[in-house]
Amino acid sequence: MPDCELLSGCIFFNDRMANMPSTSNVFKMMYCNDNFEGCARYIVRKELGKDAVPEDLFPNQGDRAREILGKG
Ligand code: SF4
Repeated sequence: MPDCELLSGCIFFNDRMANMPSTSNVFKMMYCNDNFEGCARYIVRKELGKDAVPEDLFPNQGDRAREILGKG
C-alpha cells in the first residue's frame, strides 16, 4: 500500500503531538507507511474533517475513532 495521503499535514507523523512517546515510529511503520486506512486519525479525518481529529488520538485507537464518529 502507498504511504498515507495525509502524511504531510499529519501532526502525528510529524511528531507534533503532545507527549509523543518514542514508540511512535512503530505506529508510523504500521499505519502511515502501510495500513493508513486502519488508522484512527485517518478515519476521523476522512469522515469529519481535520478539526474533528483530537490532537492526542493515536492511530491504533479505533474504538475512540468510532466513538467520535458516533457523536459526529
Ligand atoms: S496513517 Fe494516520 S497517523 Fe499516519 S499520516 Fe495518515 S492520518 Fe497521520
